[in-house]
Amino acid sequence: MQRILPRGEIEALDHNVIPRVTLPDRDSLFATRAARLRQLAAGSPVADYLLLMAQLCDAQQRAIKDCTAPGASEDRIALSQAHGMPPLQAVGWPRDPLWRRILAQLVDDVAAGKDVPAEAIEVCKALRRAVDDDPESLEDLAEAILAEQDQGVDGAAAPFVMAALQVYWTDLASRFDDKQLPVVSPFGVCPVCASLPVASIVRVGGQYEGYRYLCCSLCATQWHMVRVKCTHCEDVETVAYQAIDGRTPAIKAETCDHCHTYRKIFYQDKDLQVEPVADDLASLMLDVLVGEAGYSRASGNPLLWHGSEE
Ligand SMILES: [Zn+2]
Ligand SMILES: [Zn+2]
Repeated sequence: MQRILPRGEIEALDHNVIPRVTLPDRDSLFATRAARLRQLAAGSPVADYLLLMAQLCDAQQRAIKDCTAPGASEDRIALSQAHGMPPLQAVGWPRDPLWRRILAQLVDDVAAGKDVPAEAIEVCKALRRAVDDDPESLEDLAEAILAEQDQGVDGAAAPFVMAALQVYWTDLASRFDDKQLPVVSPFGVCPVCASLPVASIVRVGGQYEGYRYLCCSLCATQWHMVRVKCTHCEDVETVAYQAIDGRTPAIKAETCDHCHTYRKIFYQDKDLQVEPVADDLASLMLDVLVGEAGYSRASGNPLLWHGSEE
C-alpha cells in the first residue's frame, strides 16, 4: 500500500519550496548563544560585557526549562489569521506575571555567578527589589522596551528585562504551531511576535542552503526574506555591503541609500558558528564604521540598549 506523507514531509521533498519560518529550539538557543559570546569575548575590547551577557544567556537557558507561559487563545489566533497579523504580538500582549518571576530567577542567577562586576550585581539587586516591591514600574519598563521607546528606560536594567521577555516569548514561539500562522504577514517584523529583527543570516544545509532569514530579537523565530533587498524599506536598488578589511568575511553590514539604515548579515558558509544576537553584539567596530559613513541601525541589539539617536 502506498504511504501518504503528512504535509511537512511532502514539502520537504519539494526542493523548490523555501521554508518560511524556523521556530526557536528552546533546548539549545540560549546555551548556544552563551557559548558563542564566550568564544567572541577572546581578544574583544568589550570582553567583560560579552562575558556578563554569556552568564545571562546561561541563566536564560536554565529558566526556559520549566517555563510554560499561557499561549494565544483560539479567538486571538482566528483574529490574527483574518487580519494577517502576528498571533503572539508582543506589544500590548496580556503578559502573565510569570515573566516577572523569570526576571527574578535571572537576576538571582547572574548575581550569584562568578566574576560578576559589582555594578552588574547592583543592577540585579535593584531589579530583584522591584520584582517584590514595584511590579507596576517593571510592567511599564517592559512595555517601553517591547515598543522600543526610549523614554524612562534604564539602559543598565534593559538587557535583563529584555532577557526575561525573551525567555517568555521564546517559550511561547517554541510551542506554537506554525501551521496556524497567517498566510501573509506585515513586512519587516517577526511573523510570530511582530518584533523587529536583530540581523539576518544566510544559512547552509538542506532546504535552507543559500537562503537568507531574518532573526527575531525577541522570540528568536527566523523568517525567510529574499537577498539583496533592504530589510527596513524593501528597496532593491541601493543596497550595498560593507565589511571591515582583514576581519571575518562572515559578517557584513547591509546598507541602504534609500532609508539610510543598515542591518548586519551573517554568512554561515563562511563561519558555521555565527549566532545573530552574539555576533551582532561582538561586532561593534562594524557599527562604528558604518555609522561614520552616515547610516543608522534599523533596530537595536536586545542585549544592549542603544538609547535615542539624538
Ligand atoms: Zn518574534
Ligand atoms: Zn532601506
